[in-house]
Amino acid sequence: MLFSGKALTVQMLDNGIAELKFDLQGESVNKFNRQTVSEFSQALDAIEAADGVKGVLLTSGKSVFIVGADITEFGDAFSVGAEGVADLMNQNNENISRLEDLPVPTAVAINGYALGGGFEVCLGCDFRLMGEEAKVGLPEVKLGLIPGWGGTVRLPRVVGVDVAVEWIAAGKEQKPAAALEAHAVDTVVPTDKLKDAAIKLLERAISGELDYKISRETKKSPIPLNDTEALMAFFTTKAFVGQQAGKNYPSPVAAVESIEQGYKLTRDEALKIEQEKFVFCAQTGTAKSLVGLFLADQAIGKVAKGWEKKVDKPIERAAVLGAGIMGGGIAYQSAYKGTPIKMKDIDQKGIDLGLDEANKLLSKLVDRKRLTPVKMGEVLNRIEPTLSYDDFGDIDVIVEAVVENPKVKHAVLKEVETKVSEDTVIASNTSTISINHLAEPLSRPENFLGMHFFNPVHKMPLVEVIRGEKTSDFAVARVVAYANKMGKKAIVVRDCPGFLVNRVLFPYFAGFSMLVRDGADFQAVDKVMERWGWPMGPAYLMDVVGIDTGVHAEGVMAEGFPERMGKTFTAASDVMYKAGRYGQKNGKGFYSYEQDKKGRPKKVATEESYELLKPHVAERCEFEKDEIIERMMVPMATELARCLEEGIVDSPAEADMALIYGIGFPPFRGGIFAWLDNIGLDEFVKIADKYADLGELYKPTDRMREMAASGKTYYG
Ligand code: NAD
Repeated sequence: MLFSGKALTVQMLDNGIAELKFDLQGESVNKFNRQTVSEFSQALDAIEAADGVKGVLLTSGKSVFIVGADITEFGDAFSVGAEGVADLMNQNNENISRLEDLPVPTAVAINGYALGGGFEVCLGCDFRLMGEEAKVGLPEVKLGLIPGWGGTVRLPRVVGVDVAVEWIAAGKEQKPAAALEAHAVDTVVPTDKLKDAAIKLLERAISGELDYKISRETKKSPIPLNDTEALMAFFTTKAFVGQQAGKNYPSPVAAVESIEQGYKLTRDEALKIEQEKFVFCAQTGTAKSLVGLFLADQAIGKVAKGWEKKVDKPIERAAVLGAGIMGGGIAYQSAYKGTPIKMKDIDQKGIDLGLDEANKLLSKLVDRKRLTPVKMGEVLNRIEPTLSYDDFGDIDVIVEAVVENPKVKHAVLKEVETKVSEDTVIASNTSTISINHLAEPLSRPENFLGMHFFNPVHKMPLVEVIRGEKTSDFAVARVVAYANKMGKKAIVVRDCPGFLVNRVLFPYFAGFSMLVRDGADFQAVDKVMERWGWPMGPAYLMDVVGIDTGVHAEGVMAEGFPERMGKTFTAASDVMYKAGRYGQKNGKGFYSYEQDKKGRPKKVATEESYELLKPHVAERCEFEKDEIIERMMVPMATELARCLEEGIVDSPAEADMALIYGIGFPPFRGGIFAWLDNIGLDEFVKIADKYADLGELYKPTDRMREMAASGKTYYG
């Protein structure tokens, strides 16, 4: 053994090949944490000092190769400033260049995921062999960063500038076929034959049959592009990448600039440019937020897995009541992810619509070659439409998705409870009605809870799991396990009107109503909030949700929280509702909707809305951008703080992820609590106090004031 550490070992094989095996003790995956980076340096010392090393083979002792840098270490390193970031990067940059400069051939057996730093070390080798199940890629832009261990230097020298830009700017994982086609790897072999194949290749290089120095020289030299080619490659690409990413996500453009500014240089000079760009990106708020989100996502995943461990049995049979927009979506998602589901309605038309929707979604996947027609048939076979409760006895979880009317829901829930077994868990997909209230007529309220999906079900990642006063852990575990199986992000919250997401969304809409009442142009408000990062502004969002649905929910919220959300004036949404403008669903709301070339609704401004609003709003006036943002965001943020204080949600991380996954809160801001921490609670309280006249929704809680006074933050 040439070297033996806690993260990797180096062993001499019989033929003079040194096998450097990554196998991080106590972890299920390999990652480049400080320990691994430091041992990698020591391993290279040992290899350089040893006699008789004829070649070096990199392998992994786990099912993945290396998943990347240890993101949990980023926060500390990045907070030290530019030097801290550079320090974190330097040692492994040196390691990879040392590996590349060894006087013997090197190869890597990529048996599983090789992402970020994991793939960058592969690019430092002369030969890359990839297993059939492996994936490679440089996903750093998803964290607001760029590859920092030579990815922007070596990848374009290996696969060409165009492919490198595409891979790095999109941050996508690449399958073996794509990696081979791009020449990012030399060959693809069945995983169990990978090591033998790598050894054979190295032996051929050692014997001189293969020249390993050619690819090495290419990676260390400038890229042979003339000025015209370079102009074509970088000028249009940068504009395109910038437009795709948007101004709030600077790292994809920084990655292209790193390639552009380094292409005429040698490897070592280009690595310095990359480092400068990496340090710049690491210090942006976007990187801080996206790294925070990555960690928060892991945290909510752990909580969900914890619930799943408590489940009494795997979820094998499900049912949905109501085959409408939501019921159809739930049936599709359940069947697509492998759980057979009965879809019950009282109306054959509803069933036909539900099935039609599933058919359309599946056909699209077949058209895009992401599903075979045979698999499509299998998925459809997992949906069993029915107009009766026959054979409901052995269902594990039932999701009720009938119309949003407490009386209808009470009747449906009471009836279905008599058709199922004692341990069947019944969940309601209600968006607003209290779970405790819905549980009232049930004889087994412990088996009842909320399972709130978002529209469209197949696209929106979040499922709010709402536990009522009497809901058992057993029921929560089953529903979280079912959500996990459906590929959703489950967040468990407690019962209250609107639960977590709608409870904070409606104060935001209230902020909008007050702005319009006071003379703001709804289109201007939409534009400002979209620039702030929301996928759509509040007027457009209301149109998409459905103004009838929105007005109904506003009523429920007003009843639940009269002191803050009680109605005191005719809101713009009421005006639209009374005029029969229900939004996208009937082609007119705040905006009018036309079909675009692909048959999708396209919004257009219309004078009619302004005319309708005129009698109810102050004379049109311009509001400063900051005032619009503050008047929209203060009610939402204070309501979210209330939810945390009341225990509706357990942690800031869960609350932040719920809003990102449920309503598209801008990820680069890291979530509302992260945003509050970022601006500082003392500053937030000062902002909120400016608007105290607007009512209770603008008053920070006592706890927020205390935290502001003592300099506390939500993420600590
Ligand atoms: P929808 O009107 O599209 O569908 C309701 C379906 O329920 C209809 O097909 C109707 O025939 C059927 N139905 C009525 N009574 C029934 C009964 N007794 N048994 C079986 N089926 C019955 O409504 P939707 O938009 O799908 O909403 C359903 C539920 O989901 C509501 O509680 C709603 O608040 C909630 N929700 C809706 C959205 C959304 O954006 N649409 C989002 C989240 C949650």
